[in-house]
Amino acid sequence: MDSSYAIESFLRQVDHFPQVVFVDYGLIQQLFGKEVSDALHRMEAFAARERVCDDCGGLCCQDVGCELYAPHFTICPIHRVRPIVCRFHFCHKFDVFDKPAVLQLRDIFLGCYMALDNWGHDNLRALDIPPLSTVVPEFTHRITPWVEEARDRQADPDEVARMVYAQAVDVLETGMRTRNGLTRQ
Ligand code: SF4
Ligand code: SF4
Repeated sequence: MDSSYAIESFLRQVDHFPQVVFVDYGLIQQLFGKEVSDALHRMEAFAARERVCDDCGGLCCQDVGCELYAPHFTICPIHRVRPIVCRFHFCHKFDVFDKPAVLQLRDIFLGCYMALDNWGHDNLRALDIPPLSTVVPEFTHRITPWVEEARDRQADPDEVARMVYAQAVDVLETGMRTRNGLTRQ
């Protein structure tokens, strides 16, 4: 993996998007390049195959105080569009699969994150944790009561997860439409 290329590519483009807090693989590839996107794909496939995160229940999500964490969700409700900081986090359980890739992806993330110190573009704040309340406050405000109901078992966690995911996809797709409109002008 060419770490320098990935970092330079991300920093060159990050402020060209209305938002980068919710990302899918298409946006990951645009931002970091195909090598990084493929490496993240491989790590995710390993995790799914071995039930690495499923069986853990999201300890790291709980530790960072993520606004979306609820023990009753079977998986992060926005897993398919989860933030960059979540996609680049691999605990020690991933070392047996491909430790060199874990270290390289960590370096790439840190290389991008360190730009926060001297370049305060709003989109860079999407790399911080917990990821959501400071970057997409309206989204967080909307979904927080739902997540609290799921935590208290007052609402069906699967239904809440579907509602939260739909809101995140809406933010992602609205951002991409805005960008496409701007680049056509
Ligand atoms: S990355 Fe590690 S701590 Fe986090 S959910 Fe997966 S297995 Fe658990
Ligand atoms: S958004 Fe990130 S930290 Fe929060 S639950 Fe999902 S994967 Fe975990």
